[in-house]
Amino acid sequence: MIIKQIKPFLVDRFLLVRVYTDQGIVGNGEAGLWAHQQTVYHAIQELSAYYIGQDPTRIEHHYQAVSRNTHFMGSVLSAAMSAIDVALWDILGKSVGLPVYQLLGGKCRDKIKVFNNVSGNTLADRAESAVQNVAAGFSSLRTTPFFPNWQHQNSTQVITSAIEIVDTIRQAIGYDVDLGLEIHRNLSPNDAVILANELAPFRILYYEDPLAPQSIDALDYVAQHCNIPIATGERFYSLQQFKELIDRKTVSLIRPDVSLAGGFTQNKKISALAEANFIGVFPHLMGSPVNTAAFAQLVTSIPNYVLMESNLGSEVVNQIVDLPIKREGGYLQVSDRPGIGLEIDESQLDKFPFQPRQITENVSSDGSIAH
Ligand SMILES: [Mg+2]
Repeated sequence: MIIKQIKPFLVDRFLLVRVYTDQGIVGNGEAGLWAHQQTVYHAIQELSAYYIGQDPTRIEHHYQAVSRNTHFMGSVLSAAMSAIDVALWDILGKSVGLPVYQLLGGKCRDKIKVFNNVSGNTLADRAESAVQNVAAGFSSLRTTPFFPNWQHQNSTQVITSAIEIVDTIRQAIGYDVDLGLEIHRNLSPNDAVILANELAPFRILYYEDPLAPQSIDALDYVAQHCNIPIATGERFYSLQQFKELIDRKTVSLIRPDVSLAGGFTQNKKISALAEANFIGVFPHLMGSPVNTAAFAQLVTSIPNYVLMESNLGSEVVNQIVDLPIKREGGYLQVSDRPGIGLEIDESQLDKFPFQPRQITENVSSDGSIAH
């Protein structure tokens, strides 16, 4: 079997890829560098020249050949390679009639626990959202403890408001449900420490991305000065970046993205590095139903999976695949079909024109860029 063609598709907010073989098997994948989809689209086209004519089952070999060719790796190339890697595993699974999780070691779990987000622009809306999520079956929730335009507030106002938000949610749902905090890389190290220590009494499951991702040293400082487990990694794109994060014992949970950090090939290794250090895997899942299905295959096969997004936002585009993954309450059901368990339906893709993401200015009250 050889690879005949690789086609990227810009659909809605997503970048999908299909890898076609001479035996009629087609692999499906998705790239996860969601802010720069058009750049990755062209990277996939460029890399295709290497893959075409190759045996699609030499997956590790191809990862090594492309990533070590000129050592220019970064997030763009990694996202392109991740999408192709998932598609190659999809081809391999279909060629032997097995789901990818079987090829990665078999089932470690029967269903996949997922969380949902608590949202709303008022305290009452947050309480209502939290209650609705619990009623829908979720036993793990996440919120960002800020209201819109919070960057215009001073530190005292931000902390006071955050405490009110988390207190309101806890009063609404009690303490039988897990609650994590997503900070979206918005704080300075000292503000992150102060806020974490104020919120720790609410029994917070994790403190996700308090800081911009450039410095593990700075994140270490936060981790050493607060009592909430830190989660990070959704902007990391390599095995080596995760190794440093894990070796430093900075985090309790890592957030690798299968569609950014090297597909199944590298994310299985990243998960094993975390496992050896008693660190949980909390994958960062965004994207279309293709990504949801692919992520489900990986997390079914790793022992230290903890949680990931339920990805409810993508349900409107379920038409782009033949069999979207099913959710029951707070759990996803992994597909037992060969490969990643679904096919992209190319006849549906034109219904969802590409929506490129614009760069927006996130400004403070004085007009300067906030974090
Ligand atoms: Mg995040």
